[in-house]
Amino acid sequence: MSLDGAYDEGNPFALILAGKIPSAKLYEDEHTYAFLDIMPQSKGHSLVISKWSKARNLLEMEDDALAQVMATAKKVAIALRQALNPDGIHIAQFNGSAAGQTVFHLHVHIVPRWEGGPVGFSTHGQGGMADAEELRALAESVRAFL
Ligand code: 5GP
Repeated sequence: MSLDGAYDEGNPFALILAGKIPSAKLYEDEHTYAFLDIMPQSKGHSLVISKWSKARNLLEMEDDALAQVMATAKKVAIALRQALNPDGIHIAQFNGSAAGQTVFHLHVHIVPRWEGGPVGFSTHGQGGMADAEELRALAESVRAFL
């Protein structure tokens, strides 16, 4: 998918917001929703999305939606630091499939990083699909700091 196109109401994050597929929720407010990634790049890999914007990427994003998403990303990054004590935190956001975007509802990745660990993004995460029960337990431990 290119940088241009129509918003697909059937994309996974639209389905999560509609309650049609489950997610390991970390935080939500009036405008944003944060949850754990199902194919994590590291322990605690989280995503933040707007609940109302239909922007597929940053180039289309309303400034207020962007500010709301980034404010939540900051909250989640602070909570992840408290919960997991990483050495660094990678904040990333991809635009267009050529840049690695696979879900076309704007999202910000928050990836805890540890010295000596991987720093890049692998196609299916570091270990493929995460165990749902492990994600649920991890989300609960991070939520304690939110
Ligand atoms: P992108 O490559 O588009 O920036 O990132 C999409 C991310 O969404 C990937 O890290 C992928 O693992 C994650 N993802 C895709 N589908 C789902 C889903 O249904 N639930 C969750 N929690 N994460 C998803």
